[in-house]
Amino acid sequence: MKEREFNGAEPDTVPDDEQWRAIVSNDESCNGKFFYAVKTTGIFCRPSCKSKEPRRENVVLFDRTEQALAGGFRPCKRCKPTGETLPDAEWVTQMTSYIDRHYAEPITLQSLADQFHGSPYHLQRIFKKVQGATPVAYVQRTRAARAAELLSRTDRPIAQIGAEVGISSAPYFITLFKSVHGCTPAAYRRRFDRPHNEEEINHASARSDDLLG
Ligand SMILES: [Zn+2]
Repeated sequence: MKEREFNGAEPDTVPDDEQWRAIVSNDESCNGKFFYAVKTTGIFCRPSCKSKEPRRENVVLFDRTEQALAGGFRPCKRCKPTGETLPDAEWVTQMTSYIDRHYAEPITLQSLADQFHGSPYHLQRIFKKVQGATPVAYVQRTRAARAAELLSRTDRPIAQIGAEVGISSAPYFITLFKSVHGCTPAAYRRRFDRPHNEEEINHASARSDDLLG
């Protein structure tokens, strides 16, 4: 999995057992003592936040909200660690930048709601208002865009490209691709036809290995 890269303040503190206990048990008495950020979502919270329990190895701690913000993290919409209400547009940006990095993983309305701390209904409504598309449509559009890029510059099999962008069913991948780009993946690729390259030769030798094996 790709991790985001951070600039500015170095997030070098990981939770000790006591701090981890406070996070897992949503301990209000620890609010103000530290803030915790989750690297995979880019969001930071107060200890008491009732958000979904993160994986411990993805958590970094900050003493002050300014450090978390300087580290590239954004405040959680639910527990509002900076005390301010997160604007809808900012919340949706959190989600789209997450989707842009994690489109190849399973993403559903429910999983977004768990990670970004809102009810699925509310999240879908706000997302659509800001983005003009539902979260699931945005995910599929991102996958189709990435697939187009792979088709244009690699010779990988179409089903493999579908799987690489998070769609394991080849027929579904083709249908989705067509609905976004107006042509099948194969037709799209033909626009970029070019002489054999190294990658294709590698595939060919991999296939002959299969035959030998
Ligand atoms: Zn929170």
